[in-house]
Amino acid sequence: MRKKSHKLQWLEEMNHRGELTKEEANVYHRSKLGHKGETDFDKLCSYFLDKPFSIINDITLSYQENILQMDKIVVNDHTIILIDIKNYHGQYTYVNNAWYTQQKLLSHNIYEQLHRAKRITKRLLDDFHINMKVEGVLIFMNPQSEITIEDEVTETTLTYEKIPLWLMNLNENYRKCPANGWHTVIQNHTIPSYRTDYICSEKRLAQLKKGTRCQNCGSFHMIQKRYTLSCASCSFIEPKETAYARTICEYGTIMHNRSLKRSDILAFVGDDYKEKYIKNILNKHFEPEKNFGKRHIRYVNKGCQFPYWFENKSDYFEKLEQRKYWK
Ligand SMILES: [Zn+2]
Repeated sequence: MRKKSHKLQWLEEMNHRGELTKEEANVYHRSKLGHKGETDFDKLCSYFLDKPFSIINDITLSYQENILQMDKIVVNDHTIILIDIKNYHGQYTYVNNAWYTQQKLLSHNIYEQLHRAKRITKRLLDDFHINMKVEGVLIFMNPQSEITIEDEVTETTLTYEKIPLWLMNLNENYRKCPANGWHTVIQNHTIPSYRTDYICSEKRLAQLKKGTRCQNCGSFHMIQKRYTLSCASCSFIEPKETAYARTICEYGTIMHNRSLKRSDILAFVGDDYKEKYIKNILNKHFEPEKNFGKRHIRYVNKGCQFPYWFENKSDYFEKLEQRKYWK
């Protein structure tokens, strides 16, 4: 599963329950587009690549004080292909070693980022005596963008219409990647992806909408039934246990910088719940923090949205869906 960046998760939850600043709204818009570009490219890959390529999505590597993030890595034969995916809208021109959009200079050179990623990856592999080539590919996913490249460039650059042919070629030239330890070296230098710097202040938290939010239409007007919550606006039904666990994750994402205190969660979930029920959910699904005594009033905050928090319990929550039909 390709995850949304932590920044995008935070902005999404803040946007659902309150208002974003202008700057946040811009970042939110760009991050959403970026994520869409990546998932769209994943779909093209699964459509065109039917050989057993080694593929790693969204990876953050750390080597000798350098940190680099790559959207996707595909390994074919003795070549590691680093892929950077852009979902730019509008006109972009690369000339005199710089990128411009509407005559304005872009603050970062995306080719330089890719060169750097290649350099660091190559050095890492060389230092561990793993003889592999490292290539870089820059992908522009948006079919409506206009990309003009006037300089000679060494990196493969693909606009939307060129992607299928490139993938088909890759597929035709598939060869098993070597068992020379490359994967272990990459794995040993992988670090968790960044958490956002955005923090929700106490004051802002107080202004956010409380309660459980309908997954379908965004309404906060949910009707409590025995096993389910149902939306008063669109009639969407969610198992109660899932809805509350999900809402606790939403709180955890927004307040990712602190542990989960039971009283804070009760305040966030709002007035329409049964306190005992929330306590049960916390005890059942959330890990108590050590050193807070027997009452376990604090829980570990993974700081992310429900599908990622409960990645390993997805079967359990899928089964709960049957409760929608219980009376
Ligand atoms: Zn609804």
